[in-house]
Amino acid sequence: MTDEKLRQEQADEEMINQGFQQLLDSYLASKHRKKIEIITKAFNFAKQAHKGVKRRSGEPYIMHPIAVAQIACSEIGLGSTSICAALLHDVVEDTDYTVEDIENLFGPKIAQIVDGLTKISGGIFGDRASAQAENFKKLLLTMNDDIRVILIKIADRLHNMRTLGSMLPNKQYKIAGETLYIYAPLANRLGLNKIKTELEDLSFKYEHPEEYAQIEAKLKATKEERESLFNDFTNPIRAKLDKMGIKYRIMARIKSPYSIWNKMQTKHIPFDEIYDILAVRIIFDPAEIKVEREECFNIYVSISTIYKPHPDRLRDWVNHPKSNGYQALHVTLMSNRGQWIEVQIRSERMNDIAEQGFAAHWKYKDGGGGEDEGELEKWLRTIKEILDDPQPDAMDFLDTIKLNLFASEIFVFTPKGEIKTMPQNSTALDFAFSIHTFLGSHCIGAKVNHKLVPLSHKLQSGDQVEILTSKSQHVQPSWINFATTAKAKSKISAILKRELRSKQQAGEEILQEFFQKEELEFTPDNIQKLCTLHEAKTPEELYVAIAQKTITPGEEDKSILKEKSTTNNPWKKFIPFPFVGNKNNKDKQPKEKKPIEKIDSKKIIKLTPEAIQKNFIIADCCKPIPGDDVLGYIDEKNRVIIHKRQCPLANKLKTSYGNRLLAVQWETGKSLEFPVNIYIKGIDTIGLLNKVTQIISEQLNVNIRKVYIDANDGIFEGHIQMFVHDVDDVKTIITKLQKIEEMKTVTRIEQFEDTP
Ligand code: MN
Repeated sequence: MTDEKLRQEQADEEMINQGFQQLLDSYLASKHRKKIEIITKAFNFAKQAHKGVKRRSGEPYIMHPIAVAQIACSEIGLGSTSICAALLHDVVEDTDYTVEDIENLFGPKIAQIVDGLTKISGGIFGDRASAQAENFKKLLLTMNDDIRVILIKIADRLHNMRTLGSMLPNKQYKIAGETLYIYAPLANRLGLNKIKTELEDLSFKYEHPEEYAQIEAKLKATKEERESLFNDFTNPIRAKLDKMGIKYRIMARIKSPYSIWNKMQTKHIPFDEIYDILAVRIIFDPAEIKVEREECFNIYVSISTIYKPHPDRLRDWVNHPKSNGYQALHVTLMSNRGQWIEVQIRSERMNDIAEQGFAAHWKYKDGGGGEDEGELEKWLRTIKEILDDPQPDAMDFLDTIKLNLFASEIFVFTPKGEIKTMPQNSTALDFAFSIHTFLGSHCIGAKVNHKLVPLSHKLQSGDQVEILTSKSQHVQPSWINFATTAKAKSKISAILKRELRSKQQAGEEILQEFFQKEELEFTPDNIQKLCTLHEAKTPEELYVAIAQKTITPGEEDKSILKEKSTTNNPWKKFIPFPFVGNKNNKDKQPKEKKPIEKIDSKKIIKLTPEAIQKNFIIADCCKPIPGDDVLGYIDEKNRVIIHKRQCPLANKLKTSYGNRLLAVQWETGKSLEFPVNIYIKGIDTIGLLNKVTQIISEQLNVNIRKVYIDANDGIFEGHIQMFVHDVDDVKTIITKLQKIEEMKTVTRIEQFEDTP
């Protein structure tokens, strides 16, 4: 062994031991029982199992399990069983050891968690055909066995995100996208607030490095100003709380770069117009756990004598915790500088739960505030119900699950005054299904606050909802459109499917009888003849039509079936398109149109003008132009579709078909033109439109293609479509338009609408 190699090995060894020592220190400082021995055993075992293997970053592999265990311990608050499982989480996946080996050495509990983690490990970093949705389903299923599996999985993902820099770019997008789509909402749902925020920020940083840096820079530039606002605002509060003899600390909560960016995107506003970057957190230590809630409200009352509270913005998560366990009292107060500031009041216990989530509950099991305990179980039950209903399409499944992960919540009341938590945007129909499937499937309408409303009526927090039913009511296909919760959607589609199946069966039976009577053979060929005759796409469609009596087999059917097949075979018309298309037509096309085989997905693909015109398709959903952060996706027809990285569809693709992603880079220069849409809003004055068009056409080579302007009550709104070369062109135009005095909003939008 060379000297250098030896030195490297010693340095590695030292790093490993330091990492492990730090883990032990955090564990010893925690409130858990001290089981050092088994943790050390797990560490030594994992260390020798991964011996000699390095991560892409060059670090010894074992540093990863150590880091995951560290997160599980100090950021999620888990105990020795989870720490051991985290240390061992990649052993079965990456080495020859089996789950049995783990069980023999560490007992059934740890082995079971490692087994769960191994089952859901595939595809994340590997090149295996990505069936992420399938994988995710497994992940949720293991959650029912032991919630610690998913908590450790989130820790694993967090560490992978923290070290994402050393991955290939196309892998980065896949992992970042998946994280944003699934893991961050999941962390949120489990109450891991801090981790959720970090996951979002890291994803954002990798997908939009420039915008991330810009927001960071702006946060830095405005830091001093915020600090002085914070001090001015909190000084009188401190004085008041001191007088009351409360033990407390006050902290500034700064909005995360991702949330800021998200708000800028969805509200179409610049950084300077985001007014809730600073919020204030009052965290207190109650004199006694019994008076914890009372103290929250006492603090609220006393500080609202200093600043006027916003009448519509009191949020009582103290008496009605969110279903992820979150508890706090949120109020919004008017500062002396004329700016609304949100104040979050919570006890130390509530704060632990807010930051560490579910696991923090365990620490307080015997303490106060226990009635929210059931919410997580309720949620898990919903997830299980969805999983029990097989969803044919992986993407559908993801959508359904996501509805459940993302939703923020409202409170509604039953006629008897019972409180029910529902996702935001829930309809009366959702409410009916949330109470009972029978109520949902026989629902004809509802009374909201004693007024009659349709099933599609959107509920608001505080509504009292009474469901009206009728025995003769049946689930209607259109209901799918106004059901928004996962539960209602999956129930409705299950019932519809069941009904469809029984109709098909009935139709098939009728047809069989007809065949028997006419002494015909019930063969696929014969069925197909009837499909052709009645223009049914599938035999199933034909059966349903027969059951519904829109088709009654008769003379015409008989004569078609009894006629000898001739050269004029009706089959031909119904050969599915791809067979005809690919085999006969495509071969005649020039070979150069099939570029994909040559593409090396490990490299960054350059989007040159030639390449774009030939082989690439600009996605219509998000309409990216040069300068936008983009990625490529190889579709089923082997074409490369270019999406914006934040495109909702692209996010879904990242999660479901991550292995078809390509890292791409614009290399178009100024040679191509792309359509782009801009939204403008301002005060209506004479000659304004003139100013607008002048500015745009002054910009070299930018042509206006379409304009739609609408003026109402002195305010005008409009959409402009124009041709530009790249994002720089758009930015220049937007900046110039913003300089017009009467102009209030100018932003780029995706769709041109002629009804703003
Ligand atoms: Mn791992």
